[in-house]
Amino acid sequence: MDVRGLEFVVRRYPMDGSLRPLFKMKQKPIKRIGVFGGSFDPVHIGHLTVAQDAFDQLDLDRLIFIPAWISPHKQDRHPIDGKYRLEMLKLATKDDFRFDVSDIEITRGGVSYSFDTIQQVKVEYPNSDVFFIIGLDTVVDLHRWYRVDELFESCTVIPFGRGGESPEEVAERSELTLAWKVQLLDRLIRIHEIEVSASEIRMRIAEGLSVQTLVPSEIEMYITEHHLYN
Ligand code: ATP
Repeated sequence: MDVRGLEFVVRRYPMDGSLRPLFKMKQKPIKRIGVFGGSFDPVHIGHLTVAQDAFDQLDLDRLIFIPAWISPHKQDRHPIDGKYRLEMLKLATKDDFRFDVSDIEITRGGVSYSFDTIQQVKVEYPNSDVFFIIGLDTVVDLHRWYRVDELFESCTVIPFGRGGESPEEVAERSELTLAWKVQLLDRLIRIHEIEVSASEIRMRIAEGLSVQTLVPSEIEMYITEHHLYN
């Protein structure tokens, strides 16, 4: 457990009245909350690196991973059961005070629209600023997203660089309004790019190849134990 997540207090022990130290979880108010969605089928080191970089660069108090039930952009491919994807995310982030995992999209079912998710997060964290983290590769299609203008108005959308294309090229191709494009370019965060994708991991497992350096070891074990992706 990271000591920054612990608070040290002295309490009087009721049995004999002596003073004793007590460690308890710090209840730091969550003012800045990051939301990171995706299929996470499975979660891999690329996702965890984005989360860490976003946490640091945006000075977040908490970053929540939210696995999609059905991603609006990948409706042609069904991921494995949400229960496994959720459990793998929990395993990959356990004991890390920076990260949380939410089942709101899995529980809601249907197509997982980000607009709906952000509204739900705002109800759960009414006093927090919400930062919605998306890959630059998705910006080109953003104008087609469900209630995109309201999405932009209800939270701060933060793109991170991914793939070869420059942010300016992506903005040029995007059909968003000029105002949203300017905001996005302004807010872009830089991440350590790691060449890995969930599809590559699924493919390697199906071919009997190791994924040892691509996912945390707990995830590799979980995949083997539950015979996933074979
Ligand atoms: P798939 O290969 O199945 O399409 P994926 O690995 O691209 O999956 P998703 O779970 O769909 O992952 O992605 C969630 C988010 O993580 C998206 O915003 C995606 O752009 C981002 N992402 C995925 N892999 C990486 C990576 N290696 N580096 C940076 N961002 C990534």
